[in-house]
Amino acid sequence: MENITSIFKEKKLKLTPQRLAVYKYLMSTHDHPSAEIIYKALQPEYPTMSLATVYKALKTLVEVNLVQEINVGEGNFRYDANSTEHAHIQCINCGKVTDLENISFSALNKTAEENSEYKILSNKIFFYGLCTDCNK
Ligand SMILES: [Zn+2]
Ligand SMILES: [Zn+2]
Repeated sequence: MENITSIFKEKKLKLTPQRLAVYKYLMSTHDHPSAEIIYKALQPEYPTMSLATVYKALKTLVEVNLVQEINVGEGNFRYDANSTEHAHIQCINCGKVTDLENISFSALNKTAEENSEYKILSNKIFFYGLCTDCNK
């Protein structure tokens, strides 16, 4: 939590209890929840917090690079407190999003650079498949 406190101070942003609660919730899960899921999960503890507040808190956290926004298509976004580069895999049946470690972004960036005239700055890697539950 030291991290978020110093980052917010540095950016002169107010670390409201709502923003902290959203961040803490994301830190506690590897599920890549949507804003609606975060909103529902925080309801018991923060009954007055609206879905709009959750969206605003997420927007701020993404802006300061504490949280990663993952576009899963059709206007749906999932959120991840792991803001370091990593690939994701999504189940096409149940929509679950999982981290995929050990994919070398730098090697892929180099390949892309070698095959284009661009200087590659970043990339987003998304795989699709069937999770173990849905593949039964
Ligand atoms: Zn599944
Ligand atoms: Zn992730």
